[in-house]
Amino acid sequence: MVGQYDENLLPDMLPIYYTRQFPQKILCRWLSCGSSPQPLCNRELSFTLADDVYLRYLSFSDQKELQTLFQKKCPHKLDIGAVYNTKPSIGRHDAVVLARELVFDIDLTDYDEIRTCCQEAKVCDKCWKFMVIACEILNTALKDDFGFQSILWVFSGRRGIHCWVSDYEARTLDSPGRSAVADYLCLISGGENQSKKVHLGSDNLHTSIKRAVTIIDRYFIKVLEEQEFLSTDERLKKFLKMIQDENLRNQVESNLQKMSESSVERWEAFVEIYNRHCKENPNSFRKSKYLLEEIKIQYCYPRLDVNVTKGFNHLLKSPFSIHPKTGKVSIAFKPENAKNMKLEDIPTIYTLLDDSASENSKHDSNMKLAVKTFQEVVFSLEKAEALRRRNEASATLDF
Ligand SMILES: [Zn+2]
Repeated sequence: MVGQYDENLLPDMLPIYYTRQFPQKILCRWLSCGSSPQPLCNRELSFTLADDVYLRYLSFSDQKELQTLFQKKCPHKLDIGAVYNTKPSIGRHDAVVLARELVFDIDLTDYDEIRTCCQEAKVCDKCWKFMVIACEILNTALKDDFGFQSILWVFSGRRGIHCWVSDYEARTLDSPGRSAVADYLCLISGGENQSKKVHLGSDNLHTSIKRAVTIIDRYFIKVLEEQEFLSTDERLKKFLKMIQDENLRNQVESNLQKMSESSVERWEAFVEIYNRHCKENPNSFRKSKYLLEEIKIQYCYPRLDVNVTKGFNHLLKSPFSIHPKTGKVSIAFKPENAKNMKLEDIPTIYTLLDDSASENSKHDSNMKLAVKTFQEVVFSLEKAEALRRRNEASATLDF
């Protein structure tokens, strides 16, 4: 039974986890900052109970009340919602959403059309690389392009990652503002039937896109090798559909089909054919100027669930909650450490509470590290909030 996780154990284990391991105090401080200038009790919390009973519009005013809620209800799933002008509760028609962290949700199921190692709920260290790339690209864009500072990254508990931006400007961003950010960061478009999903045109590339491609380039060959994007006839066919220039496509097709099945070798051959073709056909070059970048982006750029980002009051799983299906903790992590994260090293409620579990000590120290990471984000947010309030107060005095 060691290391095995059994969903039936949750009702017994969760109350202990919430009391001993869940960073209640830090969570309250994080949510307080994120709710300010409204009080903490204006923040919506939702619980999913053992029998899928869903409770919305819960609220609490301090850690003591949160602990009581945990013990009374023993939620199997814990989601965080928006901040209202008043204490949220069922049937309050005068409740208006005033603030909400700017959130991003990236899930590996949205990569099913490109990942070849796993599908649906499955995830492995190979496809986890897509999350590493997504985290690096988004984190850099949020910092460099938008100037955001308080960014919390959290493992979603199964096969994805969440990002919470708590800067005041992000929290108070209105719906059109959120849509604009989401659209700015979204480069991949089109449904299942669209083979080519990235179109960069022929003008100079935006700095943000250039930077994303530089990040992708650090991982691209490794991903190509592991995912074998070009190795079978079917995958090759999908790849060829991204090349719109018929002449070029035919050349690539006849050359690659004759080659070994190694995706890396096939890619290198394709790049060579492409470069030669561009040199010989300046007209065609204008049309496929950024073909290499477009393909790399289609394979590796973050696939965002934009509705989560655009929605002002979308509920999202709380950091450090337990995923009911995997038992894994939604740990906070530093974006620069995403590439060192191993899925098997992510603590589960079972290993944290069972001293005899073989992974226990490693999971225990990873849990401590995750709480420390969370703390650091909260401390810096508190500092920024204090500064903002001071500036606001002095601006009022000046007036
Ligand atoms: Zn995989």
